[in-house]
Amino acid sequence: MKLPVCQYCGEEWSFWETFKQCYNLRRLKKCPYCKQHHHISQQTRHYVGILSLIWPAPMILTSFFVSTSTSITITFTVISVVTLIIPFCLRLTRKNL
Ligand SMILES: [Zn+2]
Repeated sequence: MKLPVCQYCGEEWSFWETFKQCYNLRRLKKCPYCKQHHHISQQTRHYVGILSLIWPAPMILTSFFVSTSTSITITFTVISVVTLIIPFCLRLTRKNL
């Protein structure tokens, strides 16, 4: 897994910059180095959609077999891991595809 690379200046974005860009609501993502705007690739939207479906799964699956506190702990852990993985899935394009 790699962090996104700017399509204009070729710089690799830092984890925290990518994290902030992933969770802001703007459609266009601005490069922290050259300030050019990028679109999120179709592949990224596909991955994030799949990961978003995974989030509630641990709570549903574990609620039948373990205690509520364990289920909440597992769910919180999975959500935290997915939240940290999403920046590594971000890929940028110059055009909105
Ligand atoms: Zn750039």
